[in-house]
Formats: sequence, structure tokens, C-alpha cells
Amino acid sequence: MPNMSLTKNPMPSQAPEIRNQNFLEVALGYTPEQAMDEAKRCLQCKHRPCVSGCPVRIDIPGFIKEVAEGNFEAAYQVIAKSSALPAVCGRVCPQESQCECKCVRGIKGEPVAIGRLERFVADYHNEHATQLPEKPVSNGHKVAVIGSGPSGLTCAGDLAKKGYEVTVFEALHLAGGVLVYGIPEFRLPKSIVQKEIDTLIALGVKVETNVVIGRTITIDELMQEYGFEAVFIGSGAGLPKFMNIPGENLKGVYSANEFLTRINLMKAYLPDCDTPIQHGKKVAVVGGGNVAMDAARCAKRLGADVTIIYRRTEAELPARREEVEHAMEEGIIFKFLTNPLEILGNDQGWVAGARCQEMALGEPDSSGRRRPVAVEGSEFDIELDCVIMALGTSPNPLIKSTTEGLETERWGGIIVNEETGLTSRQGVYAGGDAVTGAATVILAMGAGKTAAAAMDEYLQKK
Ligand code: FAD
Ligand code: SF4
Ligand code: SF4
Repeated sequence: MPNMSLTKNPMPSQAPEIRNQNFLEVALGYTPEQAMDEAKRCLQCKHRPCVSGCPVRIDIPGFIKEVAEGNFEAAYQVIAKSSALPAVCGRVCPQESQCECKCVRGIKGEPVAIGRLERFVADYHNEHATQLPEKPVSNGHKVAVIGSGPSGLTCAGDLAKKGYEVTVFEALHLAGGVLVYGIPEFRLPKSIVQKEIDTLIALGVKVETNVVIGRTITIDELMQEYGFEAVFIGSGAGLPKFMNIPGENLKGVYSANEFLTRINLMKAYLPDCDTPIQHGKKVAVVGGGNVAMDAARCAKRLGADVTIIYRRTEAELPARREEVEHAMEEGIIFKFLTNPLEILGNDQGWVAGARCQEMALGEPDSSGRRRPVAVEGSEFDIELDCVIMALGTSPNPLIKSTTEGLETERWGGIIVNEETGLTSRQGVYAGGDAVTGAATVILAMGAGKTAAAAMDEYLQKK
């Protein structure tokens, strides 16, 4: 008998007043009983609408059926056919706009908690599976992957499983891309990402950190002098945008990327760590996306009073609803319809406040969202010690400027064939945020998979 409850089994979580003082994971995960109960809400629809909402087409009813019957390892094997990072996607995928928004149970009530079930299955597997995979026999072809985010890791894994000798080159000192330097520990524990990287290493993938392609070595050198027959560019979109307003170069102004990197990658939140981090107690985060929520929630955990400044209203916030709710529960203040005009400094060159302006919503712009317009004479000042700019990012131009014949869009995205990920250079493929601009983990993974399949076809014909 299906479970006809209209609501999802709630996710056990740390209480807001406790979790806003620590960096431990907020959501604690289902127990086996809760997972089986939730899985019984699935109607095993014949036309499987949920699968069409998943960019990597996981057999959702198939894995949920196994969960309902208590066959958790079998459920993992179903997911593993389509996804290399289920413990990650089960945690950070925007399920509400992907698989879950297509679920028929969502027509009357809440959809099946597909993401929570995926996370449960992946965590169960990680806890119980002790054996790492064996290294496949080499097929003698050498492939380079630039960047160790979800697109690069997925591409590397798929090629390594086919016997390619894969080397991942990563600019930072730790592999994982945004999964380790951007998304905070309390949403995605780093040990989970490390497990995925250990699996790749067991498959024979070499990971070379502290190598900046375009500086340490170029793509042309990799191909012409080091014998790499094909290259995948998964270098992400890590270049932060600023507002270009007065005061943005004061001490105490960060891009969200820098702020989060100091906390996540350089462990600034640990009491014995010497990475410098925010100055003072009054912090403003400018922006309304997921990155803004992550930066605000980190600053809160470091003991600050945090205000999010956003120029539209709550209804237009681009962040996931769950992240906004978590931020609100944790005591973050939202100042809507507000735009900073200038960051104010003190005599020592540190941030002392911001001059802001009230906004109103005007006519819709090209994105369909109502354009914020300034309310004349509404300027006001607020006191601050630190400002974090979370206004979006774009691809870094370094790889384009150092690779002969690599075509990009004007905003920096690498131009590829959508079916294969092939760039304007023979043997050079690309995917993830480097192509699309800032997007999602699952789309980056999907692009890594597509490119790996095309690279295999190309190299087998060589
Ligand atoms: P990245 O993950 O950016 O990895 C690129 C890697 O390439 C980096 O490690 C970088 O150091 C390296 N690199 C760059 N240039 C070079 C070079 N020249 N040489 C060598 N290495 C180089 N998505 C979701 O789905 N859900 C979320 O909840 C979510 N939250 C997010 C929170 C934050 C704070 C941020 C910043 C992003 C978030 N995203 C989220 C977006 C998601 O993380 C990205 O879309 C995804 O990581 C893109 O993957 P990628 O492989 O293209 O690039
Ligand atoms: Fe849903 Fe993401 Fe899992 Fe696909 S990978 S089933 S979209 S949570
Ligand atoms: Fe199950 Fe919902 Fe998918 Fe139907 S749409 S198979 S109920 S998860």
C-alpha cells in the first residue's frame, strides 16, 4: 500500500539557534525507517515524469522502489548508473525546480522527497561499502582535465573507467572546485567530496594541485609537449563581479568567493587557524542568490549581525526557497528594495558603513522580472564593519587568452557544440560553468559526462 500522506517526511535538522553557532551539517539525514516510509509515497508512475526533470536522467522510480523494499545497496547501484556524485546532488541539487517539480504527488500536496532519498542512499552506501574500485587496464591514451569541480571530476571518472590515463590539473591546493571552496561545510561536508576524489584516485586518476593552466603550463604545451591527446576544460566561473561604486576597495570589502574560500578552503572558522577573516560585527551581504545566503550564514556563524541587502523583494530572491528559510530562521536580517550607492570608510581605510537608496519595482525587464527603480530622495546610511559582494561570477579569461583559437562568448563563456562539448579547437572539450556561466552542480556533472562520451568516441577513432 502506498503511503498517501500529503507531506514529505520532515528532514531531521539541527535547531536554528544551535546551528547558527557551528559549522556542522544542518540537515541530519533520514533514518532507514523514515527513508522507507518516504519511498512508499512514490506511486511508481508508468510515464515517470520525475525522470524528465533530472538533468542526468536517474531512474528515480527504480531506485525509490528498492528503498521502499529496504534494498539500499541495490538502490545505490540504480543511481550510480547515471550519477557520479549522488551524496553531493542529494544535498545541493535544486530539486524543487528539477525532479521534484515534475512529481505527480506534488499536484496535491508535497512531491516525493527525491533529493532526501538520494542522499540517504548515497550516505548508506558510503557508510557500508568499504572497497574502493579497481583500476581498469590502461588503453594507452592520455587525457588532461582542467579544474576539479563537478564537471572535471565527472569527466575524469567516466574516462578513467574506460581505461584512459587521466590527469586533473587544479589551480588551488585542494581538489573539488566550488564543492570545497564555495559551498559551506554546514551544507556539504568536505569529507563527502574527498570520498568521491579518493574513488577517482583508486581508478587511476592523477590529481595535480597548484597548477594554473595558462600560467604554470598552457593547453598548447599539454597537447604538443606532454602528449595529452585530448583536453577537457572545466575551469568554472570563478571571477567575481563588483558594483563599481565608490568605496569598494576599502579594507573589509570582500567578494563572496574570497570570503567563502577563506572560510571553507582555508578553514578561517577554526579557532586555531591563522587565515584572517571578517573585521568587526556588523556585516552586510549584497545580493540575493544562493551564494549570498551561504556567505551570510557563514558570517552569522562567525558571530556577526548579518543583513542581506537586495534591490528587489522577497518574491524575486533568486536563492532556493529552502536556503532563504534557513537563513531567516538563523536570524539573518533581510533589507529588501535597497541598493548600496557607496561604501563609507573610516580614517584607517576600513569599512564604516554604506550609503543606500530605497528602490521600487518598475516594469519587467528582458528577464521578465520587474526592474528595480530608485526612489528619489530616499538615501540613508547604515553602520557596517564588513561588506560582502555576492553579485555573480563569470569565467576567468586566463584560459581563453592563452589558448590559440579557443572561441568564447563576449561575456567569457567558452563556445561548445551542445551535443558533444567540443570547442573550436580539435581535441579540446569544455563544460560546466566555464561554458554556461554560474549554474548548478548537476548541470556541470551532466556536461562532464557528455564530453567524456564524445572524447572517448574521438580518441577511439584516432
Ligand atoms: P567549479 O566547481 O567552479 O570548479 C572549477 C575548478 O577549476 C576550480 O577548482 C578552479 O580552481 C579550477 N580552475 C579554474 N581555472 C583554472 C586554471 N586556469 N587551471 C587549473 N584549474 C583551474 N549549485 C547547486 O547545484 N546547488 C547549490 O546549492 C549551489 N551552491 C553554490 C554555492 C556557492 C557559494 C557557489 C559559488 C556555487 C554554488 N552552486 C550550487 C553552483 C555550483 O557549485 C557550480 O555550478 C558548479 O560547481 C560548477 O562546476 P564546474 O565543474 O563547472 O566548476
Ligand atoms: Fe533530482 Fe538532482 Fe537527484 Fe537528479 S540528481 S534526481 S535532479 S536530486
Ligand atoms: Fe514516484 Fe513522483 Fe516519480 Fe511518480 S513522479 S514515479 S510518484 S517520484
